[in-house]
Order: sequence, then C-alpha cells, then structure tokens
Amino acid sequence: MASKLSSLSRRRVIKTAGAVAVGGGAAALLGGGRLAAQGGAPAIATNAQGGRKYKAFVKSGPLLPEVVELTARPLTGNKCVVRMEAAQTCYTSVDQVLINGTPTNGPSLVGHGGVGIVEAVGPQAMSVRVGDRVILNLHAACGKCHNCLRMRSDKCNGPTDFPNEPFATMSDGRPVAGSRTGAMAEIAITYEDYLTPLFTDVSSAEISMLTCVGGAGLGMAMTNIPVEAGSDVVVFGGGPVGLSAVMGAKVKGASRIICVEPIQYRRDLALKLGATDVVDPNQYKERTAVAQAGFGGPGTDLFRDALVERLREMTKPRTDRRYAGGGRIGPDHILEAVGGDRIKPKSHPQGPDPTGVTVLQQCWELGSAIGSIVTCSVGQPADAVVRIPAAQWADGAKHHWPGTGGGTNDRRDSNRYCRMMETGQINMKALATRTFPLNRTREAYQVCADREVPATIVAPNT
Ligand SMILES: [Zn+2]
Ligand SMILES: [Zn+2]
Repeated sequence: MASKLSSLSRRRVIKTAGAVAVGGGAAALLGGGRLAAQGGAPAIATNAQGGRKYKAFVKSGPLLPEVVELTARPLTGNKCVVRMEAAQTCYTSVDQVLINGTPTNGPSLVGHGGVGIVEAVGPQAMSVRVGDRVILNLHAACGKCHNCLRMRSDKCNGPTDFPNEPFATMSDGRPVAGSRTGAMAEIAITYEDYLTPLFTDVSSAEISMLTCVGGAGLGMAMTNIPVEAGSDVVVFGGGPVGLSAVMGAKVKGASRIICVEPIQYRRDLALKLGATDVVDPNQYKERTAVAQAGFGGPGTDLFRDALVERLREMTKPRTDRRYAGGGRIGPDHILEAVGGDRIKPKSHPQGPDPTGVTVLQQCWELGSAIGSIVTCSVGQPADAVVRIPAAQWADGAKHHWPGTGGGTNDRRDSNRYCRMMETGQINMKALATRTFPLNRTREAYQVCADREVPATIVAPNT
C-alpha cells in the first residue's frame, strides 16, 4: 500500500488537483492562496467548491458512524480543501467508532489528521498552495497565540477563535461543523492552521503516522526535554506512540532503551526499532502501598512495586560511589505512552491496569531524583488521581512535562521528521502495515482496537 501511495507522482497529483479546482486553472495551481486571491482566480473568488459532493465517515448523534455523502459549502476565510490520501486510525477514536452511545452535538467527521493534496484554498490562506502535499495535524498551529509563541502549539489557543461555521451539509440538510481534523473522507475541509506543506518523497501512508501518534512519540524523545546521548530511557507502551518514542530515543543517542509492553509482537518490534531491552509488565504485577514517603527512591516510595524495582535494577549505573559520579537511582528519562483501554483486545493481553493510571504513578516513582518524565497518554478515568508526596512535589527535582502532542510543533517538526524517514533514521513503515479503503473504515478501527497491528491506515481515495 505504501508503495502504491508513494507511486502517486506529484505531476499526477497536481493534474488531479487542477481537475477539481473548478475554474482555477493555472493561476490557482501555480499562484497559491493569497496570490491567486488577489488575481481573482475563479476557483477561489467564486467559492467553486460549494456544492461539491464527497463521501465521508460521519458520526451522527449516538449512532455508529458510517460513510455518507456530504455536500461541501463554499470556501471561506483561510479554509482549504484537501484530497485525502492516507489517515491513521488513532486508538483514541475507537470508542467513538465502535461503541454506540458516544453522542455528538451534530453530524461530525471521524479521525484526527492525515495526509493529502490541497485542491483549493480560501481567499485568506497564505501558507499552503493548491497542489501542495500537506499533513493535516491533530493540533492547529496558528503561530500567533500566547501558547504558540512559547513553542506550545500543541496547546494552540487559536481554534477557540476560529468561527465554528459548517463546512458541509448532510443529505437531510443538517450542517456538518466542528470536525476540523476529520480525515476519514475523500476530502477534508479545514483551516490552514491545521495544515503543514510537505517537501519530501516519503509516501503519504508513512507520513500519516506522524499525525497524533508518531509526532507525539518522537516529540517526547526529541523536543522539549530531549533524550541525552548516552542516557538510560524507559518507554512505557509499545503502541505507535511508544514505538515512535523508542525510535526518537535512538536517534537522540540513548544507550539503553527499555520498552515496557504487555503484547509480545510489540515487544519484538520495539527491539527491531531501537529498544535494547523489553519488559512484560504482567510479569511484575506485585504492588503494595507503604506508609512512608519522602523525596523518592527506595525507602521513601508510597508503593512497593515489582516493576519499578525491576526497572531500577536494569538501569542501575556501573557505580553507586557518590563521590565518583554515582548515586543515580532510576532511568534518566521516562517516556509514557499507555493510557486507558477503550476496548479489551481479543487475542492479546491487557496491561496490569487497563485504566492507565498505575503506570502514571509508576512513572513518578521510577523517575530518578533529577530525571525527566514525559507523559502524553489519554483515556484515564475522569476521577483518577496520581499521588505525589507533598515534599517531592514542593522540593523535589524530577521534571514532569505532559501533553498529547509530546512537544512536537507540527509546523516546525513535520518536515524534519520526514527527512528522518528519508534517511532511514526512523521507520514509520513498520507501524503502518495494514491499509483499508474508506468504506471499510470501521473495520480499520476494529483491527486497531484489537491491537492486531500497531496501527491501521485508511486511504480514502483508493
Ligand atoms: Zn490520536
Ligand atoms: Zn496558536
């Protein structure tokens, strides 16, 4: 599948884009958004996309989503039309897709992110052009808000100011709005703030792994608290996020990368992608509360935990002579990518705690006195609590850096991640091994939910 997508030549892509950018012609293809708008390119100035019919995987009310026909509304502002080539089925959407009863406010597209070709741009779009291959990211990156200006585009404030106007209409006349990253569709219509132009020959299927999962894993290892060369790293979770974190840690030069994962084939894959060791957490489930608390480390933990003890043992430095550079207890870096289970896998074991809360507690306990802990998981119960002794919280020196984007700034990092794929430094092909057409999107999510492969891809236009 990857080869099929990668064989789609840029020339053909541009030709295809030209065919549907009604009336756009060469001005729209070559001029790009702002220039074309100033020149009055018909596709842009006359909103020629309005009325266009297309298929999309839509969730409506409490019903399971299904592929339906939508009618596009005229393009406004900086919205763009992207012909989708590949979109990954993030595990965090499986309850929305497979379990009745998850309501939506109105008809809504499923998915968060993918890769495609820009076919039309609204009159205010500046950074993307018709014909561009773009990644549609999970997070907007407006580049202007408080958080974006401080390198936290994963927490971009911009979307709250974007007008939540419908971009399409259901056959029964209901408007479709709010699904800015819905990519399980023949075309995605979204604000340019979610789009990053790509300049690479890597296949769209591989790049689509960067949306949400891959970007989060690489970001945890490489961006805000980057893994240091020669360090010991523990990665909790061997799904697409954790495996990407393993690859990122390897790129950064970690000497020891231990992946903790309950599923055998994922542990095997982790070893192929850069882990030096793997651990099955179900082999170390003993865990009891103890009364004592202090600054962390053995003797002051809130829990006596077999997994934490095992990982401390594995990351024990060659010396504990404190005046000879020794004294570290626990790894230098911890990268967490577990989260709460939505659906129990059919034929693979769950981890010791399907809520995903225990592992967060273990991250804190395992972290060395000055170590870093980066977490990015979601799906824990809303009332769950992680306990941190007050003295550690107030006066300890463990760093904790959370966030679902893992620190990745999509516009800054997407093309450098692609470069790392070009050079073989990371291998997203190993994660994206099964591809489905749009009309089998639900099956793609089921395979994802069952953990049969690390990740599945939907190719909406095949
Ligand atoms: Zn996701
Ligand atoms: Zn922003």
